Amino acid sequence: MPTAVNPGHPQRWFLTRRLIWISLTVVLGQSLISLAITTALTNRLMEGLLQGTMQRQGLKALNRVNNQLDQLTAAQAKACCTLKDYQHFLKPLELNDGKVALIVGQAGLASRISGQDRFSTTQLRQFATEAIDEEGGFAIIHTSAQNAVAVKAMKLAGGAQTGHFVYLRPVYAMPAVKTQSMIKFGAELVLILVTGVVLVMSAKRVFQPVRRISTDLASIELNTLDGATLSTAKAPIELLPILEEFNRMVERLRQAALNQKQFASTISHEFRTPLTVISGFLQSVLNRSDTLTEQQRKALGIADQEVLRLNRMLSDLLDLSRADNHQLSVRRDAFSLLPSLEHALRLARAAHRNPIHDDLAAVPNLADLEVVGDPDRLVQCIGNLIGNAAKYSPPDQPVALEVNHQGTAVEISVIDQGPGIPADQLERIFERFTRAEGVALPKGESSSGLGLSIVTMLMQAMGGSVSVQSTVGQGSRFSLRLPVADQP
Ligand code: ADP
Repeated sequence: MPTAVNPGHPQRWFLTRRLIWISLTVVLGQSLISLAITTALTNRLMEGLLQGTMQRQGLKALNRVNNQLDQLTAAQAKACCTLKDYQHFLKPLELNDGKVALIVGQAGLASRISGQDRFSTTQLRQFATEAIDEEGGFAIIHTSAQNAVAVKAMKLAGGAQTGHFVYLRPVYAMPAVKTQSMIKFGAELVLILVTGVVLVMSAKRVFQPVRRISTDLASIELNTLDGATLSTAKAPIELLPILEEFNRMVERLRQAALNQKQFASTISHEFRTPLTVISGFLQSVLNRSDTLTEQQRKALGIADQEVLRLNRMLSDLLDLSRADNHQLSVRRDAFSLLPSLEHALRLARAAHRNPIHDDLAAVPNLADLEVVGDPDRLVQCIGNLIGNAAKYSPPDQPVALEVNHQGTAVEISVIDQGPGIPADQLERIFERFTRAEGVALPKGESSSGLGLSIVTMLMQAMGGSVSVQSTVGQGSRFSLRLPVADQP
């Protein structure tokens, strides 16, 4: 089967997962070795235990057989023993739980088996021979991977012709062995489970500082670098150099950002006065001079528009730099919403060619509705959103302003039927100096990438918020939310 290769995503690995795997392998290996050792030790222990039991039980049975042998008359003893005699000797024995008793001698092999007949005569003969050959007459013989028999062979009273009495028990059916193997299995299972839980918990604990650092890192934003240092207290020693270097880097960045802000603030201040003067002169020439040709008037008009645009941009920059330095004053007063909306609409209709619709007349009790915030800043925010809607839509496409009163908040939406914004850009566009990838700037329009970041900053300062919904090819809906003022 061909393997899919994704060049964009090199294989990744997780430190935690690796650590767990390595630890699990080590622990498992260790468990297996200790298991092998304990099994060997228990087997020896069990062997001793079994030998004792078999010796005791075997002797008891042997005595009963020997008793019968003792009772034989001299003539009978002389004729002893035939297979029939062997059977006769075995008869009084009480056997259960798969125990087997047999006599092997010159006459052959006679056996008594309790329970189902599980061993063939050949097998029994083999067991008997093995035990007889062993020193002490005891042997444990494995009949399969799971089963074994304990065999005890003892010489019967009388001569060679009487043979051996052999006593045999399946090992795994013995209650002591059964209980022991169950306890062992249970203990091993519990041990593995406990090891697993301890491993996972310790891995979590070990990586807690790393997770804390990544949370701290995620909370750092470029425009809030003040105090954005990572805490080195309680950090693992291995990570200290990285944390300290990061903190030094943040300090350098903070200094650079400060210089940049100061530069922007100075430039905005310095440019404003000459621009106002230029705009004043242009206006006065345009208004008072009768000798201007149409072409000259048009050129001066364009110059005046550009000065106005520059002025707006400088105001935006100044607002941002004031906000960064916590010097921006935005009110949070109760004010009547309707006049601000009408004011914003008037300005927008004068500034843009697109038809701008509104549903103010259809909103119930709008004239009485009061919200909390700064009326001038709200007009500025609405103006920004309508400006964007008009800028990115064709000039004949309508733009709409909708008002929704929802309980404790009012939502003011600016809706356009422009190009829409790709979903993966919807968060980015609220950042400073950022333009949406995939949204073309119409010819003749300019863009600073500041408008939406100012709207966000102002709305937050008023205790409100801004959000966007957009579908590529269908248009966008930008919504401002403000809290409703407490009704008297
Ligand atoms: P600017 O418009 O000056 O670039 P903004 O901060 O106002 O800056 O907007 C950021 C970006 O969001 C724009 O560059 C544009 O890509 C996108 N955008 C904003 N409003 C709209 C809109 N109504 N329709 C399509 N794209 C928009």
